[in-house]
Amino acid sequence: MASEEHTGSYYAATRNDVTTYPELEGDHDTDVCIIGGGFTGVACALTMAERGHRVIIIEQHRISWGASGRNGGQLIAGLGGSKHLAKQLGWEKINELNYRGNDIIKERVKKYDIDCDLKSGYMEVAFKKSQMEYLKEDYQDHVDQGLGAHLTMLDRDAVREALGTDAYVGGMINNLNGHLHPLNLCAGEARAAVGLGTRIFEQSEVTGIEHGAVAKVKTTKGSVSAKQVLIAGNAYHKLEPGKLSGLVFPAGSFIIATEPLSENLVEKINPKDVAVCDLNNVLDYYRLSADKRMLYGGRCNYSGKVPKSIKDNMLPRMLEIYPELEGSKIEYEWGGNIGIVIKRTPLIGRVADNVFYSMGYSGHGVAPTHIAAEVIADAMGGNTEVLEAYEKIKHWRIPGSQWMGNQIIALGMLYFRALDLSPL
Ligand SMILES: Cc1cc2nc3c(=O)[nH]c(=O)nc-3n(C[C@H](O)[C@H](O)[C@H](O)COP(=O)(O)OP(=O)(O)OC[C@H]3O[C@@H](n4cnc5c(N)ncnc54)[C@H](O)[C@@H]3O)c2cc1C
Repeated sequence: MASEEHTGSYYAATRNDVTTYPELEGDHDTDVCIIGGGFTGVACALTMAERGHRVIIIEQHRISWGASGRNGGQLIAGLGGSKHLAKQLGWEKINELNYRGNDIIKERVKKYDIDCDLKSGYMEVAFKKSQMEYLKEDYQDHVDQGLGAHLTMLDRDAVREALGTDAYVGGMINNLNGHLHPLNLCAGEARAAVGLGTRIFEQSEVTGIEHGAVAKVKTTKGSVSAKQVLIAGNAYHKLEPGKLSGLVFPAGSFIIATEPLSENLVEKINPKDVAVCDLNNVLDYYRLSADKRMLYGGRCNYSGKVPKSIKDNMLPRMLEIYPELEGSKIEYEWGGNIGIVIKRTPLIGRVADNVFYSMGYSGHGVAPTHIAAEVIADAMGGNTEVLEAYEKIKHWRIPGSQWMGNQIIALGMLYFRALDLSPL
């Protein structure tokens, strides 16, 4: 696949770092070679560089070209698959890891002075009683962990007051979560890693890995010999098909961005400036950008195809919640691939003793990628406790082509969408 520049997103148009890195040519060697320059790869590179290792990142397109530079920017705690992991690690460890991604991001933004519009405030909203029950349980869970002060439960009136819409029966604000400009965060972390000696090569597709005590990562014009390797290509790579095919399926998620909204509108629809996510299985998510555009996203398709018009797909969804945005100009529309895993638990493990992988965050990855990156960095340093817990989770592999896998997942999602539409 030919190398591409960033997609036409609001984020690419407002990025504050336009640094580009050279193509990989010739043979290089390093301690750690990372394939893929999204959050998983860049966050792990930065951790390994902080720990004194020589690191090389190889990215097929540009740093943060994939989901990491295109997402909703919602910073939401969690590591994915907690229930499966808790069987091995216990709930105390899970609770300890739960906010680790948020903490890493907050620490890095401060330490490396990364300008990425980071704000606290995230609201989950419910359409029906069963979703409110879930929120109440989550609230209680936080109270039990001594985190209750950061959360507020909201009834219908309080949500109407906070979001200016009558669409929801209630919600919950979590101020430990929040939102940010993902492309600026990822580019900022990459810059920090480079400051610690990491070398980055862009527009360089990795075509294969030659395994051995020192692994050789190959591109068309060069190679990197490394003691340890991380495959961080998420929904965009096809490496190591023998071990990794049929496990992660690319699904599209799409976002539209309006023109900047008037102060009056902002005051009416989101005066607290929180990121919002509904609790449907096929969910919508939205927030205001730093310059007060509505960024409205959602509606995955499971065909892996980009719809003819993202705007035509997304606009009715946004207007259903906010009819007053009718007439606001849509200035950006874009989409990206999330990596769906049937068990909704990231796929983290090893294809060889010194070749790691981490992918399949199933649509929720800003914080989880940072947790996973630290899990991998720890494992590279010899602490494999959490990595091994992930490795023990049995994943369902869908045999046959990726097309077939996506059809099966699409059927499954039809079922979950039907559940969303049930009134209870
Ligand atoms: C539209 C959208 C909205 C989302 N919203 C949210 C949200 O609000 N909150 C949230 O938590 N999560 C969200 N997500 C999910 C989140 O963005 C992802 O889980 C996360 O960014 C995954 O990061 P990653 O580094 O693993 O993968 P990616 O960011 O996809 O990066 C993978 C990189 O690997 C590179 N690559 C692939 N193959 C090769 C190769 N052979 N050689 C070299 N490089 C290669 C790709 O070019 C790409 O840059 C969203 C995703 C999308 C698409």
